[in-house]
Amino acid sequence: MPHTFDAIFVGAGQSGPFLAARCAERGQRVALIEKRALGGTCVNDGCIPTKTLVASARAAWVARNAARWGVTIGGPVAVDMAAVKARKDAIVAESRQNLSTWLGGLPTLELIEGKATFVDAHTLRVGDRELTGARIFLNTGARPVVPPIPGLSDVPRLTSESIMDLDHLPAHLIVLGGSYIGLEFAQMYRRFGSAVTVIERADRLITREDPYVSTDVAAILTGEGIEVVCGAEATSVSGGAGDLRVELTAGGAKRTIAGSHLLVAIGRAPSTAELNLAAAGVAVDARGYITTDDKLVTSVPHIWALGDVNGRGGFTHTSYDDFQVVAANLLDGGDRRVSERIPIYGLYTDPPLGRCGMTATEARASGRRVLIGSRPMTRVGRARERGEMAGSIQILVDADTRQILGATILGIEGDEAIHSIVDIMYADVPYTVLERAVHAHPTVSELLPTVLGSLKPLEGLTEPPRRGVGFLASQGTPR
Ligand SMILES: Cc1cc2nc3c(=O)[nH]c(=O)nc-3n(C[C@H](O)[C@H](O)[C@H](O)COP(=O)(O)OP(=O)(O)OC[C@H]3O[C@@H](n4cnc5c(N)ncnc54)[C@H](O)[C@@H]3O)c2cc1C
Repeated sequence: MPHTFDAIFVGAGQSGPFLAARCAERGQRVALIEKRALGGTCVNDGCIPTKTLVASARAAWVARNAARWGVTIGGPVAVDMAAVKARKDAIVAESRQNLSTWLGGLPTLELIEGKATFVDAHTLRVGDRELTGARIFLNTGARPVVPPIPGLSDVPRLTSESIMDLDHLPAHLIVLGGSYIGLEFAQMYRRFGSAVTVIERADRLITREDPYVSTDVAAILTGEGIEVVCGAEATSVSGGAGDLRVELTAGGAKRTIAGSHLLVAIGRAPSTAELNLAAAGVAVDARGYITTDDKLVTSVPHIWALGDVNGRGGFTHTSYDDFQVVAANLLDGGDRRVSERIPIYGLYTDPPLGRCGMTATEARASGRRVLIGSRPMTRVGRARERGEMAGSIQILVDADTRQILGATILGIEGDEAIHSIVDIMYADVPYTVLERAVHAHPTVSELLPTVLGSLKPLEGLTEPPRRGVGFLASQGTPR
């Protein structure tokens, strides 16, 4: 086996393998080093398994609520957690196998299992091998953070990784952290049949969103029977398997929350500890993310950092875009930059949240003259037909340039409909292009031109007009 490569990739996440394959297709000698499983977080314990589980949870919710649609289920609805896990495992395994088959078929690419550590700026050690690379690409991702709460390290606890191995239903799942990852698990396990309590330190859920979004998402979750405790500082954790207690202070009062399982979902940190970056002279920022320029080159000119580890994205699509930026610049003679990217993401609770560009809070803070158009899902035909009318559409426009600044669609199909808006933003054209577009009926997207036809100044509005959450909350979800 050669020990000298044109390109060495550390981590087989959502950018490394694709760039490695592009380099190998050019005839370069490439090493792709992975310590755990091909596909990284997204494939093994991130997007793919969670959305697979969300689908099972929704099926349970629809079945329990079938009478709403005039459908009778002749008996109680049961969830077979072992079967749910088996379905998830099969889909994950297939994705991993597809990657393995594809990468394994590239003659100049060597897949190396093991943990890579820098020896010097061109050399990495993996087991007893030392590999030298002309160029090195770091795609080592991020890992769940476990906070230093007294007692937490002594009790059985779950992270977004270990919860993937559960094949039984927790009687009562306590979720520490009311942000994107925690909320997806909270709703999913509630729908599987667990009692669920979410503990959030801030005074509202998903604090990066506009306050009204936090309020509406909280109403959706509590409407399904999830207990949400905000403004809560967990002070200690105790107990053992199946019998855990979180002590907290909330609103000046002490409280104990008891549950059978504890999921710690308070955030993620870059996976750099094992790399020994100092040996290569690769700089990191105060939070430990590898610093890069706008083309993802690190402080060492022949080393790049892509994906979550560079702190510039945090999503599968941003990691994949990092691959496209580097491939364009290195292999295709292009001139692409990460800063050209428009933020877009989803929160895959049900209904989902689709977000792109600025929030209303950010638009206000930008000092621009901002126009806002909004519409509750109760006035979206598709949502009425489905009987799922929680949420609203909100679009923000710069009053002077007439360009769309951002949008928030909380509601059914919000994660899909948001793309009409981001595409207009990428096209760099005035909002009137979308306002005059004809969209098919009956969809959520068909209302986007209508929303843009009713813009008002944002100034003076404390929050966008909306309605509809109470409707869903009042329907509740049977246990
Ligand atoms: C529960 C959950 C749900 C998510 N849902 C979504 C979603 O719906 N949509 C979305 O866009 N994003 C989602 N994400 C985020 C998404 O999974 C990541 O942003 C995405 O996987 C990109 O990661 P990456 O390419 O940076 O690296 P990763 O996918 O994290 O891969 C890094 C790889 O590097 C390997 N590695 C690390 N150090 C070394 C070393 N020293 N030597 C060898 N190998 C090493 C690791 O084993 C890992 O396989 C979710 C994340 C979680 C945890």
